[in-house]
Amino acid sequence: MANNCVCYYCEVPLTKFGPDNAPTMITWDHIIPKAKGGASDYSNLVAACLKCNKEKGTLSEDEFRTVLWHRAQKARAEKMANQPTVFFTREISMEDLKFLYEVGVSI
Ligand SMILES: [Zn+2]
Repeated sequence: MANNCVCYYCEVPLTKFGPDNAPTMITWDHIIPKAKGGASDYSNLVAACLKCNKEKGTLSEDEFRTVLWHRAQKARAEKMANQPTVFFTREISMEDLKFLYEVGVSI
């Protein structure tokens, strides 16, 4: 078991106390779900946040990590979409550089 007070899946720092049902509240998660025959011992238990525990449900670790990966990709894409992007298709002229400098694009 390789986690140190962070969620085994999303790595959010886990909280032990605090408001009930806080998404970061520490829970024990069965890596192989109990419903699929996973054991309730230390070989199959990890500390996970309540949010991941609920969302993982009866998914396998791989399936759930795929869900998290897609979510991270989507969040990254949305973040990128909100940032001005400049594509260079030719050499940059002094004029371009001046323009970029004026609009605050760091080079
Ligand atoms: Zn988590």
